[in-house]
Amino acid sequence: MTQSLFCDLTLPQIQTLMPYIPGKPISELQREFGLTHVSKLASNENPLGASPMVLKAIESEMLNVSRYPDGNAYYLRDAIAKFIGRDFNQVAVGNGSNELLTLIARVFAGPLDEVIYSQYAFAVYPISAKSVGAIGVEVPSKDWGHDLNAMAAAVTERTKLIYIANPNNPTGTCFTQAEWHNFMAKIPQNVVVVLDEAYVEYVNDDTTPNGLDYLDAAPNLLISRTFSKAYGLASLRVGYLVGCEEIIQYINKLREPFNVNSFAQAAAVAALADQQFVASAVALNAQGMAALMAFFQAHAIEYIPSQGNFICFNAGEFAADWHQQFLKSGVILRPVSNYGMQGYIRVSVGNEAEMAHFLTVFNQILQAQA
Ligand SMILES: *Cc1c(COP(=O)(O)O)cnc(C)c1O
Repeated sequence: MTQSLFCDLTLPQIQTLMPYIPGKPISELQREFGLTHVSKLASNENPLGASPMVLKAIESEMLNVSRYPDGNAYYLRDAIAKFIGRDFNQVAVGNGSNELLTLIARVFAGPLDEVIYSQYAFAVYPISAKSVGAIGVEVPSKDWGHDLNAMAAAVTERTKLIYIANPNNPTGTCFTQAEWHNFMAKIPQNVVVVLDEAYVEYVNDDTTPNGLDYLDAAPNLLISRTFSKAYGLASLRVGYLVGCEEIIQYINKLREPFNVNSFAQAAAVAALADQQFVASAVALNAQGMAALMAFFQAHAIEYIPSQGNFICFNAGEFAADWHQQFLKSGVILRPVSNYGMQGYIRVSVGNEAEMAHFLTVFNQILQAQA
């Protein structure tokens, strides 16, 4: 782009928007370096793939490719509602939870409204807030996690929305039930709280709250979950939102009529029915996470303990160099300097072969440097 023809025509908030930076696709790295063997550990995807039941469901859906999907997503919403023990009308589905996160901003926030999120929080929150012209209020993090007291203190008369991820991405931190309880007690009911639980399946700490337990007491609370991570459906784009019927109704008014395609709907129903697959994904994750932490400890590499399927380690001044060396060796990681986490690199937990690939390359890098 050399000359701007339409800049003056765009809404002011569009010009300062920082686009989301996704993980590099495997095919792109293969093209760039002529590699065949690539381990993508950059997008917190499921290294087990998806349940075999999912693949069957997608296959049976193929004959309907010429039909519009069920715009009401009846079977999927019904399956989700039963799975979480809530009413059908308390569930909305989206083209990934990402779509739902942005729809919430469109429902509740406009120019000069304030939307609160934490430093080092998911990049989609500032994008969602700013895309509707709202003011993004970034509250400084505490120990890489959400400082819930400071976030509650940041609420003003103009605050419409608060985005919170538990566990948080990219840092992997979690807060406790007590912290959450205190926080919710301080938030007025005319401020909507979005609790993003994209990684809830991986949590293995009893003190971490489950958002669903707080819905009855707080009609201003929305829980967002996804099929992209533990269920392994990232490519299909499907996530869901749980909240009070009224808010779910507003979301349904605004969303596009066929936002979740038929393959995604059928796949998500099948995925939900195979909890054994989720359990094996979670078990594999615990194993890979233990191997990563052992490696970091053995090499005195600082890391941020994580409750998710990813972990950030501190590469310090070598971050850019190491990242490049990993790429050349076929390992795609995610530098998080765009999150203000200078020197840190995020690695997703992969399967055994991918972990071995990562650790072998890391050993080579460290040895070459010694
Ligand atoms: C991956 C992720 C999501 C899920 O995104 P989808 O659009 O459902 O694929 C949501 N929130 C956070 C914090 C994430 O890391």
